[in-house]
Amino acid sequence: MMTDAAVPVTQSTVESFTARYLQSIGCQIDIRDNEWQVTIPEDVETSLTKGTHDLLCDTVRDPDGERDLLNPESSFFQSILDDASGRVPLGSIKVDTTDTDILVPDWLKESSVSVSDIDFTPYYDRSALVILFQVSVETVSEYQQEFLRSIGIDTRSNEILPNLDETFLTLTQSEAATVTSGEFTMEPKQAERLVDVSREPLLSDIQPQIDEIHQEASRAADAELEEYRQLQRQREEEFETKITRLRSKIGELNESIENKNQTERVEALKERRECKSKLEEVETELKALRRRREHGYPDQQHKIRERHGLEVVVTPVTITEVEYERGDVEFKLTDRDSTVSLTVGYGSGVGVTEEIDCDTCNQSLSGENPLWSITNGIQCGSCGGE
Ligand SMILES: [Zn+2]
Repeated sequence: MMTDAAVPVTQSTVESFTARYLQSIGCQIDIRDNEWQVTIPEDVETSLTKGTHDLLCDTVRDPDGERDLLNPESSFFQSILDDASGRVPLGSIKVDTTDTDILVPDWLKESSVSVSDIDFTPYYDRSALVILFQVSVETVSEYQQEFLRSIGIDTRSNEILPNLDETFLTLTQSEAATVTSGEFTMEPKQAERLVDVSREPLLSDIQPQIDEIHQEASRAADAELEEYRQLQRQREEEFETKITRLRSKIGELNESIENKNQTERVEALKERRECKSKLEEVETELKALRRRREHGYPDQQHKIRERHGLEVVVTPVTITEVEYERGDVEFKLTDRDSTVSLTVGYGSGVGVTEEIDCDTCNQSLSGENPLWSITNGIQCGSCGGE
């Protein structure tokens, strides 16, 4: 049973993935709102049908019936995923500040201190990989969920770059972007190593989703176990009834044996023997059932839990080398009468790369604990008398 409604592949993920994938293998895409014209050149190595495809990014039927639909359930998207999982296409892209707005950190966005000027000075080029993973969560019995997740990782420092994958998404999605599949220059061994390194942060990132699926699976396992318990209790009751019936039958036979003639007596004794051995059999079975209940049906628990256990498989679908710039960004901050300039490490498409601490309490600034004031050094929200 597929829980279709819960499959978290959203329309926008499908669109960005498709755009990214097609561009990475060398296709052209002309995007006009939700109408795409995709050209798959003859020389591109792909199982997709070559030539021009008119796509409609929608879940409802195309009124003219002439275009292919692009949505999580559409057959076109399925063929894209099939094609992608067959190989992991490599591409490259350059992010520089002319393409992207300066990313203002949350601790400043949430602050009442205003930014009057921003200036980025790039010092050197760095490279990163943006890896798109397909995550599939399965149980042997019933659930199967698939979703796509991307992660950006600095090639040299292995630092996870939280905003880079999103910047990359925006760039490849925008109509103005001239993103072409460039040369992938990294050694395959190094790329492989980085893919491995990024698995763990990716897994911890998706842990809440996995937990949710896991809880659902546990609930299903609990329900199944409860059903089994009830069945076993029913069986116990049936055995108890049988025992009562056999005992009274044996009692009756005991009384009647005295008043029988020889032949009838032999018959009754035989019948009593049969009843007694049947009673013994049922009592043994009941005892075993009770013992298993007292231990909580360990074998059955094991069997059911195993069937509902999750298997999480994370497969890289596309790998893109991203060149970005590292340097400093200077924020000119104005708070009432004071103006202060704050210089922090910055990466294009990545955002601020260092933590800023409150001068009073040394806590790091964050979206939850934003910059409160600059009049007496950097002061955080919790020091600012909230
Ligand atoms: Zn503070």
